[in-house]
Amino acid sequence: MTLSTTHRPATDLGFLLHKNPARAQQVEVSTGTAHVFYPEATDERCTVALLLEVDPIALVRGNRGNEGFALGQHVNDRPYAASSLLAVALGKAFASARRGVSKERPDLVDQALPLEVHLPALSCRGGAELAERFFAPLGWQVEARAVPLDEQFPEWGDSRHVDLRLRGTQRLADAINQLYVALPVLDDAKHYWVSTDEIDKLLRAGSGWLAGHPDRELITQRYLAHQRALSGQAMARLAEVDDADVDTFDDAVAATPEVPERPAPLAQLRQGAVLAVLRAAGAHRVLDLGCGSGALLPALLAEPSLTEVVGVDVSSRALEVAARRLRLDRMPERQRARISLLQSALTYTDARLAGYDAAVLMEVVEHLDPDRLPALEHAVFAAAAPSTVVVTTPNAEHNVRYPALAGGGLRHRDHRFEWTRAEFAEWADGVAARRGYAVRYLGVGGDDPEVGPPTQVAVFTRAAGQEVAA
Ligand code: SAH
Repeated sequence: MTLSTTHRPATDLGFLLHKNPARAQQVEVSTGTAHVFYPEATDERCTVALLLEVDPIALVRGNRGNEGFALGQHVNDRPYAASSLLAVALGKAFASARRGVSKERPDLVDQALPLEVHLPALSCRGGAELAERFFAPLGWQVEARAVPLDEQFPEWGDSRHVDLRLRGTQRLADAINQLYVALPVLDDAKHYWVSTDEIDKLLRAGSGWLAGHPDRELITQRYLAHQRALSGQAMARLAEVDDADVDTFDDAVAATPEVPERPAPLAQLRQGAVLAVLRAAGAHRVLDLGCGSGALLPALLAEPSLTEVVGVDVSSRALEVAARRLRLDRMPERQRARISLLQSALTYTDARLAGYDAAVLMEVVEHLDPDRLPALEHAVFAAAAPSTVVVTTPNAEHNVRYPALAGGGLRHRDHRFEWTRAEFAEWADGVAARRGYAVRYLGVGGDDPEVGPPTQVAVFTRAAGQEVAA
């Protein structure tokens, strides 16, 4: 594989990849040795090459890459084609670049750069068309051509290899993460070893682009080697990917934020519902309580009627990510004046949160231990006491509609509970009665006649004349 840039000076590519253009370097992987070197390195254009020298003995020993017949262990395309094995090498050789980290060129990490990727022999089941389907929706200009089985004998037809060229203006981390997922997906080798932590790897590498990809289901299935239980689980998590807490996706943090997110449909609908409630309430000054890495904040900022937006979270890491995602440091003055980020725990009263028109708790309450809910209730509904409070949370009844959760289990590993509609109403009705609010309920996502919508929403409105407790 080669990857080139014409960004000036092009040799900055070396800083982004953490690989000096002046030196050839080797990285050992389980299937052989990966070589990283630069066939060209000038100010105008710089090209890095990643070459995986497959160790055939290691391959047989690891029982990887053989195609199911004995001789196939020794005679196969693995040493010559860009396959799932190259993804492993790519992941290891460019680990920091994938995370979007560069000490020497921190600014470049966030920048979309003119890139060109060439894979002269990509193992691709599904041919040029599938390669196009994978990369075109991600904004690449795709040139894919099937490689003939043997140029001397055109009547033999095409091989399963594609000569693929991608051109586009992309963040380097995104490009590498996309290739990291594309190689095994397009290769679709049967013996690609898969375990549950592959789901984490997939969601991490896919963060910011996979949830919105039209072929996300095919990509997920193939990446997880057609293990239906796993891909079902991954799809359920993809639908919820926006409320993933930062620690789960720790490594993804640096790689995600700068691209405008294409949220998963459910996350998008949820945001839309929250915005609609805020508009209807005529809110101007809004708190996003438990804002996490800031999934909702850009949408709030895009609302001209909101004059002040405050993101609040207990996790300083989450807030750092939110700041990066919003590009706070580069935000124009007037925009910057509308937003602030505050570290605060919602289970303690905080005077800074008092006096707002509205507060949003989007997919937050289920992250608290149930015995902390009374403390949150006091801090939000009695102390901060905004006129409107919007709470969204999963509807546990809907989980049976996710194949992976049909047998039980929660949508996210940090969820402490997930409520049925009746349980949510019991809590919310109680809060409303105790704190002087009226409450109504909404659903987000398709309202299933039996189990209700995937997300449930309570909208609390402070009853007129209710005084705010001290
Ligand atoms: N609202 C965001 C994030 C939801 S994840 C979204 O919809 O994408 C839940 C968030 O709640 C996490 O970021 C977590 O750090 C935060 N959180 C959990 N307990 C909290 C507490 N006691 N105080 C403040 N934030 C809390």
